[in-house]
Amino acid sequence: MGLTVLSGPSGVGKGTVVAAVRRLHPEVWVSVSVTTRAPRPGETDGVEYHFADAEEFAHMVKVGEFVEHAMFAGHAYGTPRGPLEERLAQGVPCLLEIELQGARQVRSAMPGARFVFLAPPTWDELVRRLTGRGTEAPDVIRRRLDRARIELAAETEFDEVVVNDEVTAAAAKLVGLMTGRPRDAHRA
Ligand code: 5GP
Repeated sequence: MGLTVLSGPSGVGKGTVVAAVRRLHPEVWVSVSVTTRAPRPGETDGVEYHFADAEEFAHMVKVGEFVEHAMFAGHAYGTPRGPLEERLAQGVPCLLEIELQGARQVRSAMPGARFVFLAPPTWDELVRRLTGRGTEAPDVIRRRLDRARIELAAETEFDEVVVNDEVTAAAAKLVGLMTGRPRDAHRA
């Protein structure tokens, strides 16, 4: 199975690492999620996310268009099923960048996938990155830090941990894991 799920607390740099994977490894297909949150400056509909309103999102849930979906800091996020299944059927290595609840849903639905946790070098560094992004209001940062504590505690649920000390190195490590043997092969 060519599916890898990358998870980890908000602010750890998942988006930056995934952008590096896109740049350095165009053979990897990265799923574009649907979200109800507003675009950040510089984000383009259809590139970082498909931006939808709550009604559109609810409809997509109802008709089963998502592999997984979850609420995060007051907004809905989901992975569209069609494009992912198409790429997996073609044998393309696929990457999902999603939060913990979604990763757990994928774990139940697709147990053969690889689950990789992107960890910050330290808690203080995570706070610095999340605050330093400068795109979120203080109450949003607080909610994301509360959630980050929960996500960090779940690190042991993952098959592999990549520490995001340096983006290019973390991206290379992630791609190395993606192209390595699947988890079940280690167990046999
Ligand atoms: P952000 O608003 O910072 O782009 O994303 C917030 C959180 O939602 C991040 O932890 C990100 O990984 C996660 N996320 C993005 N897309 C999805 C998705 O399709 N499903 C789930 N469950 N989480 C997602």
